[in-house]
Amino acid sequence: MANVVINPRIRGFLCLTSHPTGCARNVQRQVEIAQRTGPGSGIGNALVVGSSAGFGLSSLITSVFGYGAKALGVCFERAGQGEKAGSAGFYNLAEVHRLAAAAGRTVETINGDAYSVAIKEQAIAALKARFGKLDYLIYSLASPKRTDPATGITHSSTLKPIGAPYTSKTIDLDTDQIKPITIATATEADIDNTVKVMGGEDWALWIAALKAADLLADGFRTVAYSYIGPQLTHAIYRAGTIGRAKDHLEATARSLNAELLTSVGGGAYVSVNKALVTQASSAIPVVPLYISLLYKVMKEKGSHEGTIEQIVRLFKTKIGPGVTPTFDDQGRIRIDDWEMAPAVQAAVAALWETVTTENVLEVSDYASFKQEFRSLFGFEVAGVDYQTPSETEAKLG
Ligand code: NAD
Repeated sequence: MANVVINPRIRGFLCLTSHPTGCARNVQRQVEIAQRTGPGSGIGNALVVGSSAGFGLSSLITSVFGYGAKALGVCFERAGQGEKAGSAGFYNLAEVHRLAAAAGRTVETINGDAYSVAIKEQAIAALKARFGKLDYLIYSLASPKRTDPATGITHSSTLKPIGAPYTSKTIDLDTDQIKPITIATATEADIDNTVKVMGGEDWALWIAALKAADLLADGFRTVAYSYIGPQLTHAIYRAGTIGRAKDHLEATARSLNAELLTSVGGGAYVSVNKALVTQASSAIPVVPLYISLLYKVMKEKGSHEGTIEQIVRLFKTKIGPGVTPTFDDQGRIRIDDWEMAPAVQAAVAALWETVTTENVLEVSDYASFKQEFRSLFGFEVAGVDYQTPSETEAKLG
């Protein structure tokens, strides 16, 4: 046990500390939105893989507080110890657990490598012992590496263009300078490794393991998250190594969908979500500058959403109980529709041409990007007194 004053220690797209009270505040805000907008019931049991941050955290909160689900979450986070703060995701989930208990709801967390056989077995044992068959599985992992359980080989994902080097502009998150960036072309090995980590193989392994354990309820639905984005990030995102992984994820959804339809009358979907500030997206070159311009335009148009608003809308209009999903011509659910609206994209593309280090704070919403990035780790959250020492040790349940 230690009560310490915790300050942010930021290096580029990494923050080496996190603040328990700020993380708790963020979770409280999301829970309040899920409770206010959801029906309060409708989902029996849910499993969320990647439950501690970003879209996965919002999916957990929406299932539990918006739809009354009993939920099991899987994440990879670090507990606080002594004077050393834990990771933000750990504090996020500590607050989810606290609020769930207070509301008489059930949330359990398994903290370990979701890609491993051992964690899948642990999840199956927990589901059999205390939950029963699953109605939903939300798959929301974002990871730089994965050890393939079949071979023991650890694969690392990359963010590289394919076929030709990519030159664009990017913002240096340490110096706030906009500068040119050139990223070398991916090798075949880079592509294969990225598909191994961020493609659909592990999602299919989860479904196979759950099905073998007879844990899929009739009408079971599973969703994984994808991204497309605009032409200006195309070379580094959708046409790059990560895009190949997303192609694989989407192909996996099609084959899982066919299988689940026959076996349990269920479905497997990919939802294409909006670009948002998360730990994963902050690490992608060029994307933070694009997000800063996008936020400016979408806030002006009144169409801006965060992860909780996106996921609440996803459940309400696309995947929630009793809702029939609608798809684009490639079978994907689209909740990036407001981001991809032609007027939004035209405005962002025009600003992209003009943005420089000198005008970035006027032309874009980079100030919000920075604030939201810090708030992912519990810093710069309204109403938190950062001078008051915080308890670093927290419990999940
Ligand atoms: P995030 O970094 O906020 O969260 C990632 C989650 O994965 C965390 O809960 C983390 O604990 C968990 N995780 C990572 N490695 C793990 C492991 N080995 N075992 C168990 N858990 C592990 O990421 P995010 O941005 O919410 O991304 C989630 C998904 O949404 C990804 O597929 C991403 O491509 C997709 N997506 C993101 C955006 C965006 O702009 N952020 C947009 C569209 C789609």
